Amino acid sequence: MNFENEELKAIDEIGDNHHSTSAETPLRDDAFKLSDSEKIELIKEDVARIMQTLGLDLTDDSLKGTPNRVAKMFVNEIFGGLNPARKPKASTFDNNYKYGEMLVEKNITVYSTCEHHLLPIVGRAHVAYISNGSVVGLSKMNRVVDYYAKRPQVQERLTMQVVQELQKVLGTQDVACVIDAKHLCVNSRGIRDIESSTVTSEFGGKFKEEAVRREFLDYIKLDTPF
Ligand SMILES: [Zn+2]
Repeated sequence: MNFENEELKAIDEIGDNHHSTSAETPLRDDAFKLSDSEKIELIKEDVARIMQTLGLDLTDDSLKGTPNRVAKMFVNEIFGGLNPARKPKASTFDNNYKYGEMLVEKNITVYSTCEHHLLPIVGRAHVAYISNGSVVGLSKMNRVVDYYAKRPQVQERLTMQVVQELQKVLGTQDVACVIDAKHLCVNSRGIRDIESSTVTSEFGGKFKEEAVRREFLDYIKLDTPF
């Protein structure tokens, strides 16, 4: 038996089955030693090399700018959420009006990237919490989803990271998140199932109780015409 091949095969299967190895994004200690502009320069060369290997003519006017464009997009946009410097500020307000019920922010747009294939994950997130004294601005929940989505991701991890971050900011365990998303690596290649989507959920604190969880899921189902 060729051990190295068996090992590579096992690693390939982890990715193809979209298993993740941890709830934390696997980052190296030296992840931010290089500046963003240094990263862009290096990635630009890497993308050019990939295109070159594929046989593309990089002197063509249409392709010339692609390596630089992709490098900037990786660092500043679609993987910009790797950098803790971009994390949304943790500002909360006192819950002056003593609203003690559930607050749900639904249909938050999710644009992320599958870490196993580097293809888009597109969907919706629904986030809820029950205040224990402090509240966050509504757009804060969208920003937290967007920050963690802008990483190479696994949908389960994204769901957990959103909940853990809001639990920390709000000082309560009573936070929940459901994400329903399409993975282009499933829809456009491999099994090519255009219709399927993946649902993941994370229920903290009171949301583990049947009635509370049910209330949240019922709100998500509400289809209010605007
Ligand atoms: Zn994938």
